[in-house]
Amino acid sequence: MTAISDKPLEFIDLKAQYAALHDAIHQRIERVLAHGKFILGPEVQELEGKLAAFTGAKHCITVASGTEALLIALMALDLKPGDEVITTPFTFAATAEVIVLLGGTPVFVDIEPDTCNLDASRIEQKITARTRAILPVSLYGQCADMAAINAVAARHGGIAVIEDAAQSFGATLQGKRSCNLSTLACTSFFPSKPLGCYGDGGAIFTSDDRLAQACREIRVHGQSGRYHHTRVGVGGRMDTLQCAVVLAKLERFPWELERRHQLGRRYAEQLAATPGLTLLAVRPDRDCVWAQYTIQVDARAAFVEALASRGVPTAVHYPKPLHLQPAYAAWDRPDAHPHSLRAAERVVSLPMSADLSDAQQARVVDAVRAALSR
Ligand SMILES: *Cc1c(COP(=O)(O)O)cnc(C)c1O
Repeated sequence: MTAISDKPLEFIDLKAQYAALHDAIHQRIERVLAHGKFILGPEVQELEGKLAAFTGAKHCITVASGTEALLIALMALDLKPGDEVITTPFTFAATAEVIVLLGGTPVFVDIEPDTCNLDASRIEQKITARTRAILPVSLYGQCADMAAINAVAARHGGIAVIEDAAQSFGATLQGKRSCNLSTLACTSFFPSKPLGCYGDGGAIFTSDDRLAQACREIRVHGQSGRYHHTRVGVGGRMDTLQCAVVLAKLERFPWELERRHQLGRRYAEQLAATPGLTLLAVRPDRDCVWAQYTIQVDARAAFVEALASRGVPTAVHYPKPLHLQPAYAAWDRPDAHPHSLRAAERVVSLPMSADLSDAQQARVVDAVRAALSR
């Protein structure tokens, strides 16, 4: 017999989640196959209603991916060529990509070294007459300092704030849910995100009726009615089948969040005193959903190798800040944003998912301690 701890360790265990939700997922999918409304079918509206209720935002508009959500949100704000959007260089490329695609200028602001989120105190000095939006990322599942960011935006005539909540669906700040903290918010249902589907998917949240209407129209080629195009849009809908998958997963999601918090607390307790390792700081007014359990170490390459030799997979989110990527280098000097540079050299993510067992987590902790005590 194989002991549970000998089960191969997955970085994110989607197979165990599928096994746990097998019947619910199959029932949901079969219902869609039977009714045949594969585009904007009843599951789309059902999911939008449930997600809006979960977050507290008035509107939810599901879309084809997290990237599409960001693109449509900026289009709804009517971003024009030359408009500036303040964001972080320490994120996945999609955050800045959509700004550039619309002819906008990404204005990078460095991160807080301990949370790796956009440093709100550095935003004001980057605001100009062309600043159209602030686009913070709630990285690793912890909300950015949205209260401080909203306050800066309000002081400057109500600049729009968009939360890139691709990694933070389910997180809270001062008791309010991520995706209900700003003018607009965008999340992703990429399979490995805290709430994922079985392909690409995403959603936009807002409590502004006019912006919600704009997002709905842009999602279907700018149509306000069939073949009536009020604006330029995109083909950006989320499939009914993918919405059905998220609906099935949503039933267990509150338990998954609780489990993620428990695993996060335990990693922190058991790794806190380990020399050579820096934990991510979680602010006391926030609840992190740990999209990844990310720590910082020196000599990362050797650390990653030592963990791999013990069967523990890791990942790096992200090895290079955007202003050092060839595609985005034009917007900043290479030596700008030293905290982002340092984080990019030191961050490493450990296995995390609601289905990580206690025994598996203990194996990861042992491997981390062994790797750092050499
Ligand atoms: C995953 C991710 C996205 C993009 O989401 P997709 O659904 O893959 O398009 C955008 N921003 C951040 C911070 C992400 O982690």
